[in-house]
Amino acid sequence: MTTQAAEASVLAPGSTIGILGGGQLGRMMASAAAELGLKVHIYAPEQNPPAAELAAVTTTAAYTDAARLAAFADSVDVVTYEFENVPAETAAILAKHTNVFPAPDALRIAQNRSLEKTFLNDNGLATAPFRIVESFNDLQDAIAEIGTPCVLKTQTMGYDGKGQAKIDSAEDADTAWDAIGQKPAIVEAFIPFDCEISVIAARGPDGAIALYDVVDNVHKNHILHQTHVPAQIDDDLITHAHEMAHTLISALNYVGVIAVEMFACGHDEKGKPLILVNEIAPRVHNSGHWTQDAAVTSQFEQHIRAICGWPLGDTSRTHNAVMTNLLGDDVNAWQDFAAKPNTKVHLYGKAEAHAGRKMGHVTELLPKA
Ligand code: AMP
Repeated sequence: MTTQAAEASVLAPGSTIGILGGGQLGRMMASAAAELGLKVHIYAPEQNPPAAELAAVTTTAAYTDAARLAAFADSVDVVTYEFENVPAETAAILAKHTNVFPAPDALRIAQNRSLEKTFLNDNGLATAPFRIVESFNDLQDAIAEIGTPCVLKTQTMGYDGKGQAKIDSAEDADTAWDAIGQKPAIVEAFIPFDCEISVIAARGPDGAIALYDVVDNVHKNHILHQTHVPAQIDDDLITHAHEMAHTLISALNYVGVIAVEMFACGHDEKGKPLILVNEIAPRVHNSGHWTQDAAVTSQFEQHIRAICGWPLGDTSRTHNAVMTNLLGDDVNAWQDFAAKPNTKVHLYGKAEAHAGRKMGHVTELLPKA
């Protein structure tokens, strides 16, 4: 190991990948790593997280424990993460000891909606019109400028609709400001999109880029419910979504798999495809789970390949597919799903099924059109 983020090297089978976070994404990455003869060391604060069952080694410690982080980084050949809300400082400590992919800078941008949207716009990628809000006064000004309806979102720690409040009229400002805990935020226009789409993209240390088919996503209560692949949108929108993901992953100088979530809004007045980026997730993503069963290379294997400096895998779609999340008690019907033809069941080994908790997913394979 070196004291600086070293030049990316090719990691041979037998190498160990350190993963920050122990949830289902880490578990599925560990499974993909094992298929390639690689080992995984999970670092997570929780006792017995889902990924630990598949890991060679697990460290149970806080993300702020500098000594344990340093020991972890020294014991692995590369570090990655399975969720983005680790403190930026954590990634910076790790990067002093070993390669961290994606780089801490990409994490920093993706963690903060204000930095994220500014970065996107600076690189020519359209977003909903937004304003940065640090105080209640800012919020009132922003509502006046953006208009209603609009959405107030905390700058950090927001996911699955958490830290968000819709504002239908200026009188809602007080309630919305309280609802998000009076934290630094952004206000953005509420977009009447046709559908929500996403692109899973991968980039290797050599700059090679691979894109998966564009999917459309249906949310329930702000949580992903279903992903359909391929997305039922016009070909020029598909091309544009791919171009946008390509631009973004290059601009970030990114290594690994990234998810780009977007609003498909049809065409503008000049007939050009109109797509707005909603957010980026610097990791494997729920809307890419279909790739396990309906693409030549899964997003999990792809991420492992990218961060280990292996050639990127073939992203071709082998089937059309519908991926459905099993939230909370949905998982109790596992025997019914297991009995269905053309259906693959994935369960995360979580003991307690709280309402809304991601317990597993099923992917129904359909003939490729
Ligand atoms: P986010 O946490 O930003 O991904 O938002 C969660 C969900 O809220 C999105 O998947 C959309 O369904 C919805 N949403 C977020 N921002 C907007 C917006 N500006 N306009 C309309 N719907 C939105």
